[in-house]
Amino acid sequence: MNNRKIPYILATLCRPIINKISKLLGLPTIDYLQAQLHQKTEQLEQISAHQKAIYRVISKIRASLDLETIFRTTTKETCRLLGVERVSVYRFSEDWGGQFLGDFEFTEPGWDNCGKLGKNTIWNDSYLQKHQGGRYRHNETFVVEDIYTAGLSQCHAEILEQFQIRAFATAPIFVKQKLWGILAAYQHSRPNNWQISEVKFLTQVSAQLGMALQQAEQLAELEQKAKSLRETGQQQIILLNLISAIRESLDFDTLCQTTIKEVRKTLQCDRVGLFRFDLDSNYCYGEFVAESVLPIYDSALLKKVKDYCFGEKYAIHYQHGSIQVLTDIYNAGLKDCHIQVLEEFQIRAQIIVPLMNGSKLWGLLCIHQCENTREWSKNEIRFVKQLAAQFSIALQNSHLLAQTRSQAEELSQALDALQEANDKLENLARLDSLTQVPNRRYFDEFLDLEWKRLVREKQYLSLIMFDIDHFKLYNDFYGHQAGDQCLVKIAKTAKEIVKRPVDLLARYGGEEFAVILPNTGQSGACVVAEQIKSAINNLGIPHGRTEKQIVTLSLGIATQIPSVYQTPQKLILEADQALYQAKQQGRDYCMHFRTIEKDADY
Ligand code: GH3
Ligand code: MG
Ligand code: MG
Repeated sequence: MNNRKIPYILATLCRPIINKISKLLGLPTIDYLQAQLHQKTEQLEQISAHQKAIYRVISKIRASLDLETIFRTTTKETCRLLGVERVSVYRFSEDWGGQFLGDFEFTEPGWDNCGKLGKNTIWNDSYLQKHQGGRYRHNETFVVEDIYTAGLSQCHAEILEQFQIRAFATAPIFVKQKLWGILAAYQHSRPNNWQISEVKFLTQVSAQLGMALQQAEQLAELEQKAKSLRETGQQQIILLNLISAIRESLDFDTLCQTTIKEVRKTLQCDRVGLFRFDLDSNYCYGEFVAESVLPIYDSALLKKVKDYCFGEKYAIHYQHGSIQVLTDIYNAGLKDCHIQVLEEFQIRAQIIVPLMNGSKLWGLLCIHQCENTREWSKNEIRFVKQLAAQFSIALQNSHLLAQTRSQAEELSQALDALQEANDKLENLARLDSLTQVPNRRYFDEFLDLEWKRLVREKQYLSLIMFDIDHFKLYNDFYGHQAGDQCLVKIAKTAKEIVKRPVDLLARYGGEEFAVILPNTGQSGACVVAEQIKSAINNLGIPHGRTEKQIVTLSLGIATQIPSVYQTPQKLILEADQALYQAKQQGRDYCMHFRTIEKDADY
């Protein structure tokens, strides 16, 4: 025999005896203790099962970030675990009324639609409303085994009856410190004896749901922030590009076109218009001067708008930087006359931002959503405001530029006129009025400059002086006016001979002329002098009082390399002396004074 079995056999044999002795002594019998043990074991097993279940549910809640999955799994598991017919989630609204969230509910088959308790049932419990969540506010649960024996108020029991609820256990769901809703387990078919462990389980699940909701809220917040940041970032880039485009386009048309096109593209709206007030209209009249609009909507371009209301009441607000943001023109409390103007352009929602030229209201940037209402985001509003501010700066710049341009144009015209007048004056100052060749004053300046230059260059400078022969007689015979004409002809002909730009023919005085020939030696000067003489001869101007019967010239030439020790007067004097000699030679004659050799002066 197995020794280990002996105590069991003894115990079995002795049990009736021990039971009797225990009864006699007033002690618990073995049977009683065994029953107790059995009950405790069952309880422990149940607790362990609940613990395992709650661990499983919590793990599922933790594993998912998707609220719908969390709630669906939780309600189903809870329903099965508690062995009830329905587990619902009730959410409080702002006024402490509320609604069963149909998507989160789990119901055992056959109890899908009992009484009024259907999907998304709204249940505004006046008691909970009055007490802002009542007992749940204080994180209490509510457990009712049977609505008919729980001592509920008549009206409460009636409502529960309408929903065919016989027993229920409910636990609050908190998100952070705020009562968010209730997790409710319902029994429809019969009363239910709720175990403490079951209620505890329900409380633990609702606490976990609160955590999940909090996480989901934080996640949604983060996502929203990220989205908003992304949006803001994109808009900032667009804004920057646009600003540089605006800054580059200083002419008004490009500025307008760039702005409206980019804004409509960015905001994906139906129309963007630039409205300009007529000058001196006191902001009562104006028109759209630029527009970008979807083809299915009417163009507002160049349509005259009269709005006295605006001029009188609203312009001042825009002048001070106010903007108008309308989600729906019919829900904005606008006056009929205002709505009429908006309807004319099929506007349903809009953003209106002032456009300033300096401190004056120039116009409005109008963002229109036609037909549909539109909720404008903070980012969109900020974007439009920033853009309008940039447009206003560019507008002022373009106006300033236009002003500067016209001023510059006027200035340049004035400068041209001045230049012309100066040129005229200068010509007047340096030209001889009769013959239009340089005068004596200019001759002196020019000779002086060339003298100095050729001192440095150590090059020849020649001077020809020529004088009309017997001109007094010519005047006497043909008259002074004919004499003038003769002087003009001679100057003109001589000028044609003196072609080099560096040479200068001047009227030296009376009927005497001078030719300055820089970088020209004696032979070159003699050639030019002979050419002038022959050209005048060839003119054949009649002179009846001379032997040759035509007007002739006498020419004196002087050549030298200028020197710092002398002045140009010396050259003039020598040319004059040569001229005198030419006259002595019988006129119509060229005479060179003398050639000073290069080294002679040094
Ligand atoms: P010669 O051959 O010696 O040079 O004799 P000439 O008569 O030309 O010389 P003279 O110096 O005695 O006379 C110069 C004349 O030139 C005197 C003057 O009336 C004339 N004359 C000078 N300037 C002008 C002018 O601007 N117009 C006219 N018509 N005559 C002028
Ligand atoms: Mg003379
Ligand atoms: Mg003369």
